[in-house]
Amino acid sequence: MTTSSFSVGRSSYGDLRGVEQFVATERMALQILSVKIDFDQMKADQGSGDRLSINEGKRSRARQDYLWANRVALGVVVAPPYTSRHDEIRNGNAIDVGVTMADGRNRALTAAEFDWLHTQVERRGGTWTGRNFGEPWHHEMATRAEVVPPYPNARAIVAAGPTIKSTTTPVGDIVNTFIIKVDNGKGAWDAFLANPETMRILPLGSTALAFWKARGVPEQPDMQARQVLAGFELVKGKGA
Ligand SMILES: [Zn+2]
Repeated sequence: MTTSSFSVGRSSYGDLRGVEQFVATERMALQILSVKIDFDQMKADQGSGDRLSINEGKRSRARQDYLWANRVALGVVVAPPYTSRHDEIRNGNAIDVGVTMADGRNRALTAAEFDWLHTQVERRGGTWTGRNFGEPWHHEMATRAEVVPPYPNARAIVAAGPTIKSTTTPVGDIVNTFIIKVDNGKGAWDAFLANPETMRILPLGSTALAFWKARGVPEQPDMQARQVLAGFELVKGKGA
């Protein structure tokens, strides 16, 4: 039997870290990615680099067999093989979600975040079915009418990351300013002049980068993940 698969991004959780996750239809994928977009923007607006991640979507039959056979040793609670809504063939509409922090580690959602999540999933056409078996992270997508349709370009929005607030106010006192390099997701980095006192940040082209380096503004050696931009205001204009 063949099944279709639609990506909901890579897991960062447990033995699935780095493994791309899927659901059965594009509509389901866009629904949960839209929830993620709203969650990530909310966190960015709070100055947090925490991001919603799909720990697991469709589960292969081989993995179900493995988890069931080893459930005691692994200490996991799993449904008998092929009965789960994660099943790759019968349903494939279930997703388990968690939070990936800016440093790459995982955490569970807080109670307040779960409350937000359950409401938003249901607005987007899913159901918190984990309510019936004590799993606040477990949802099934495309199970009800949508109150809000998904972002049609959800994948592009996820790839771009949360919107950063902008200002025309300069970065601030140069004494408190340094240069950081941020991964731009395209195998390269973008330079910024950042002031952690004012929490304002200025994108630097190559000329501006050379200008500030020549003035002795210290440069952080390591490339940073894009999440470091969370909480900064993006300066439009001249800068410091
Ligand atoms: Zn689940």
